[in-house]
Amino acid sequence: MNLCDIREVKALLSRHGFHFSKSLGQNFLIADWVPRDIAAAGGGDKACGVLEIGPGIGCLTRELCGRAAKVVSVELDPALPPVLAETMADAENFTLISGDVLQLDIPRLVDGHFQGLTPLVCANLPYNAATPILGALVEAKRFEAITVMVQREAALRLAAKPGTGDYGALSVYMQYHTQPEILFDVPPECFLPAPKVTSSVIRCQVRREPAVRPACGEEFFFRTVKGAFALRRKTLCNSLCTAFGSQLGKGGIAEVISQCGLPPAVRGEALGLEEFAVLADGLYEMIQRL
Ligand code: SAM
Repeated sequence: MNLCDIREVKALLSRHGFHFSKSLGQNFLIADWVPRDIAAAGGGDKACGVLEIGPGIGCLTRELCGRAAKVVSVELDPALPPVLAETMADAENFTLISGDVLQLDIPRLVDGHFQGLTPLVCANLPYNAATPILGALVEAKRFEAITVMVQREAALRLAAKPGTGDYGALSVYMQYHTQPEILFDVPPECFLPAPKVTSSVIRCQVRREPAVRPACGEEFFFRTVKGAFALRRKTLCNSLCTAFGSQLGKGGIAEVISQCGLPPAVRGEALGLEEFAVLADGLYEMIQRL
């Protein structure tokens, strides 16, 4: 069966009485070059175990099974396992887990299924849950690379550089843990049903060590980053008051900013990861001295 032939797909879905769910972000790929190119970009080889989130009817899953040693796919919609039982019947290296990826113990899944293999993620993510899913995948601290298709706007935010409109706390978080690279765009007509937006495939090579190692620790570092972007249109100093104003006052925060060699009117979006690390350490030290 050709899972990218729209007539065959419609016949398959109608045989199973399947109805698309918008809330589950169900836009299935129907252009054969897309699953092929996503799998080529992030599906690894016979030394790899691949976790896929949301196999749908299995078009990307089949490409992944052709490349990797093992593929484990997690699908939330209970209507899809019977469809996958048909479309994936001949794939011996495929395991389906029914459920919500956000409720799963991902490290345990990887340790249980991918012993001796290089763990990767390769998926066309449900767009409405892409950010929390990416967070869970990064926090699992198991994967060598995470290659996913998301809305173009989301991909731009993940890979954004300082000083751009797309740059924010999510960019810093992702770039602290990984090296995101946007690979290619996928237009709406490649999906059934067609979404209103363009999609992008992004490959996030996971760093062995975080990009920076602030002495204040990871939790305080991200508290600083979150504070720096809390009020985007305000200065860094005013924005940081939301997180540290009660402890340091505006004067104390301004003093740390100046000690970091940053101009008083600087905005959070101008800071790179190194600068955030120095700033977080400065704030932390001042709090310790209180
Ligand atoms: N991989 C298929 C493709 O490319 O055609 C389908 C991708 S579709 C954009 C997203 C898939 O993720 C759907 O099958 C949807 O049911 C599933 N899904 C949505 N939320 C999920 C979750 N929290 N856990 C696991 N699967 C989820």
